[in-house]
Amino acid sequence: MSGPEIEAEPGTVYLVGSGPGDPDLLTVKAARLLEAADVVLHDKLPGPKIIDRLPEARREDVGKRAGGERTPQSEINERLVELAREGKSVVRLKGGDSFVFGRGGEEAEYLAAHDVPFEVVPAVTSAIAAPAVAGIPVTHRDHASSVSFVTGHEDPTKPESTVDWEALAATGGTIVVLMGVGRLPDYTDALLDADMAPETPVALVERGTWPGQRVATGTLETIVDVRDAEDISPPAVTVIGDVAGTRESVVDFLQNEYGAAADAEPGAEE
Ligand code: SAH
Repeated sequence: MSGPEIEAEPGTVYLVGSGPGDPDLLTVKAARLLEAADVVLHDKLPGPKIIDRLPEARREDVGKRAGGERTPQSEINERLVELAREGKSVVRLKGGDSFVFGRGGEEAEYLAAHDVPFEVVPAVTSAIAAPAVAGIPVTHRDHASSVSFVTGHEDPTKPESTVDWEALAATGGTIVVLMGVGRLPDYTDALLDADMAPETPVALVERGTWPGQRVATGTLETIVDVRDAEDISPPAVTVIGDVAGTRESVVDFLQNEYGAAADAEPGAEE
């Protein structure tokens, strides 16, 4: 990217969010640091358009190890410290915003504990951007005065149900679930048990802003069948609440380059 140069300091780690996946939604600072850094540690979540344009010589995929299992966070932490101590300028690139379900906080703590200087570069989170590009505002004067961001995939080492679905249902606001494709049946049931209306609109936004983005809509009662029929898979966000229904009134005029042709409505062909 042209413009004033950003220096990537030797021995420094930059915790950089990539935004949801469209390179045009990188912050200017993120784009400049990606150009300037000696090494970029990333996983797959920033999406193909951002990953593929990083020169291979300057990037390390720390998402999966050979054999397909996830690289332990401890190994990533150690690698960040090791590279910084070698005097490298290091970008740790995360999908969305590093501090929203991105383990950026853990990395910051580890770096601080090991005397490694770091900078946090905030970004556009998929929790807001994926609904937005699908035409769904997470708040709306007439429909939602609050929004909650929750994980649909709890840390298995935590005690059961640390997310209080009953309390979330009682807010009357929007609920945005990340990492929530697999356990959709569990938390939609929990919300129905908490007396949330079965006809509450729900949208699934898959690969928001990536090539081939898809949107599938239903209700609290039907969305699991919709997910199965459309074969919605991660990464996707689940938007629960009346705001998901407002999409209907804007979608015909909603312009974006991501996935209009692949828009998946229940019953429609892909
Ligand atoms: N730090 C990220 C979230 C990481 S958790 C952020 O701020 O966006 C991983 C989850 O993020 C995925 O399971 C999915 O729910 C969501 N996600 C990330 N990128 C996405 C995208 N482009 N479209 C839809 N969901 C996405």
